[in-house]
Amino acid sequence: MTNESAALYLVPTPLGHLGDLTQRAIDVLRQVPWVAAEDTRHTAPLLRHYGCSARLLAAHQHNEEAAAQRVVALLAAGESVALVVDAGTPGISDPGARLVARVRTAGQRIVPLPGPCAAIVAFSAAGLSETHFLFYGFLPSKSGQRAEALRELAELPYALVFYEAPHRIVEAVAALLAAFGPQRTLLLARELTKLFESIHACSLGEAQEWLLADANRQRGEFVLVVSGAPAVAASTEGGRVLRLLLDDGLPPSQAARLAHAITGAGRKALYQEALRWHEAATSTRQS
Ligand code: SAM
Repeated sequence: MTNESAALYLVPTPLGHLGDLTQRAIDVLRQVPWVAAEDTRHTAPLLRHYGCSARLLAAHQHNEEAAAQRVVALLAAGESVALVVDAGTPGISDPGARLVARVRTAGQRIVPLPGPCAAIVAFSAAGLSETHFLFYGFLPSKSGQRAEALRELAELPYALVFYEAPHRIVEAVAALLAAFGPQRTLLLARELTKLFESIHACSLGEAQEWLLADANRQRGEFVLVVSGAPAVAASTEGGRVLRLLLDDGLPPSQAARLAHAITGAGRKALYQEALRWHEAATSTRQS
């Protein structure tokens, strides 16, 4: 791949399971003369494993600008470059965005390959009814800043996706509980695609106890998926009446109609909430 149509290829690599490197990724890594890697020591064995002879250059968060200049120069000289990070997709809570921006500004070709991304893998397993989700990535590590960030997210009706490191998982879950209350669903996706993969869903109110019950549950890499803010808060009059009617066994549509007639709360929002509670209750009974 040394020609006029030289490109920067964005190549996702496995989160853990080597089988998740796509055939197209392997082909690109075999063909490009250069691979820009977050950690060249980490990437070298992968390249060796697949018989790739590309030369490695370092592109990490501390040299992104210099690496970007070098990549732009290589592309200008007609040499393609593949960008990889330690695991998953470049630019997703990882270095890459600045490099991509520089290459785009230089008018050079960028070819993104689909592939592993922890956020997407976890969200696909969440089975939440929200159509929309917000990828947040890492929360601030300082507790005050984290609480402030969560306050800003608390009312959003979208599922929220966070990345978290093992040494902060317990405090992060405590912060989610403090900001969002006990009712919302939390999916803890740990060690995805690896030997000790575990995916556990519970209410935020139950999560702390589950985590603390076994030290192994706090180990490894995590994606946390939290269901969105309810359309009708359980603490409002509409929410309380709706809950009573559902608990009495009324179907969601009837419960929403009556709760609307009694309290005047929005009928559509009540119906959405009724469906959500109904689904949550049904799945709890089944598990
Ligand atoms: N670029 C990567 C991606 O596409 O998913 C994310 C890189 S970010 C520096 C690393 C974080 O991703 C970890 O702290 C964890 O939250 C999440 N992560 C990466 N691999 C994971 C895995 N196998 N299981 C669960 N979470 C993972």
